Amino acid sequence: MERKNTTLSQVKVVDESQGIVEAFTNTMGAIDLDGDIIEPYAFDESIYANLPIPALVGHDPNQVVGKVIAARPVEIGDGTAKLWTRIQFNLDTQAGREAFSNIKGGFIREWSVGFNIPSGAIKVVREAGKTVRRITNLDWVEVSSVLRGASPGTATIAAKAAALARKEALPPHQTPTDDSPWDGPSAEVRLPLGDGMAYEDAFAYVDDGADPDMKGSYRFIHHEVSADGNVGAANVRACITGIAVLNGARGGTTIPDADIEGVYEHLASHLRDADREPPELRSATVSDTLDASDTAAELALARIQLARLLIADTTND
Ligand SMILES: [Zn+2]
Repeated sequence: MERKNTTLSQVKVVDESQGIVEAFTNTMGAIDLDGDIIEPYAFDESIYANLPIPALVGHDPNQVVGKVIAARPVEIGDGTAKLWTRIQFNLDTQAGREAFSNIKGGFIREWSVGFNIPSGAIKVVREAGKTVRRITNLDWVEVSSVLRGASPGTATIAAKAAALARKEALPPHQTPTDDSPWDGPSAEVRLPLGDGMAYEDAFAYVDDGADPDMKGSYRFIHHEVSADGNVGAANVRACITGIAVLNGARGGTTIPDADIEGVYEHLASHLRDADREPPELRSATVSDTLDASDTAAELALARIQLARLLIADTTND
């Protein structure tokens, strides 16, 4: 197992009662002290496939203190990226409470990620007269709080970094689910103004280059929002409806094809968490495999099937 450490330059306690913090736990795109460069998107596959991964203390597998419930790379703007990570400590255990308290109080200031490197995921190159291993993909196994380590230099992070404009789908995250009736427009109205972090929790897509602190930059809202503006459970019907829109219902969507699958994965993962079988994503496979005339017929069929699913869903109560 490989390990990379990073200084805990910012940590934000998101929910004290649930033991949830957010922090940057790795630096990507820069040469570290081992002569490695982790590519900015090397964590992506693991984020989709491996979450929730355990949070440990000092890489000790006998000290599981929490879990990573969401993560994503955040571009810093100079070719490097930080791994934004939301960790929930297990406050039901003594070890979890202590680890949370140490992080919250700033007593422990470094993180380390543990991962395996799949075969073929390393390119050895010469850069600036040095031999460098570029890690293009990795199998992320755990994140640990550590006393200190051989950390790569950590650039100062601008306060806005976490909300830097990113295109594309917001990665799946683990949240409670709810199958009560859904009213998307009302949920959207209750979201606080200018709160990019809340929007990232509530929606499944953010527009490329748009202001991340504007509600209008986001699409595919699917989380409940309380009267006082807190984002909560993923709504099962919102997720089903969102997938139907990806498949062409209600006039379809204008988000780029490349992001449709990401939005689908986000919504589908909530449905799986709710023990629901997600409707299939039709558009991507259809356009990849069929010619134009077949595509129209296939899409029409897909819409009919989805309409049936939606009817089945609403009559299911
Ligand atoms: Zn979500």
